[in-house]
Amino acid sequence: MDLQTLYRTVIMDNYKNPKNKGLLKTDKYHFVHLNNPSCGDDMNVEINIQDGVVSEIHHDGKGCSICCSSASVMSDVLKGKTVDEAHELINDFYEMVKGNEPKNEEALGEAIAYMGVRDFPARIKCATLSWKAVEQAINEVTNK
Ligand code: ZN
Repeated sequence: MDLQTLYRTVIMDNYKNPKNKGLLKTDKYHFVHLNNPSCGDDMNVEINIQDGVVSEIHHDGKGCSICCSSASVMSDVLKGKTVDEAHELINDFYEMVKGNEPKNEEALGEAIAYMGVRDFPARIKCATLSWKAVEQAINEVTNK
C-alpha cells in the first residue's frame, strides 16, 4: 500500500470507528484540553498512569478528520507504553510529520500513516494536537 492510500485509509477508519473515544472524567484520570484555532479542532484527553505505564488513554473532541483520527491512533499506539517509551514515540511522531525519518517505525504502528502530513504543513497542528495534549498530561502527572 502506498503512503497516500495508507494515509487515507487510516484516517477514514479511525474517524469512523475511533478507538478509546469518550471520557470517564473520574478522579482516576488526569485531564487536559487543547485546541487548534487555525482549524477549529478541539481536543480533550484523559490518562491514567500506573507504575510508570500509561495504562489508559481516552479522548473526545471535535474537529477535522485528521485531528480526530490521529487522537484514536495516538491512544492505541501509546496505551500500555511506559512513560519513557511514550515520550520517545511522541517525539518521533513530531519529527515524522515535519518530514524527518521516524526512529522507530514499527512502534509507531498506524501512526506512520501521518507521514503524509509532511506534504501539507498547515495540517501538522491537526495531526499533533492530541499528541500534545497527552504529552502535557503525562508531564503534569509525572512532575507531581
Ligand atoms: Zn484540523
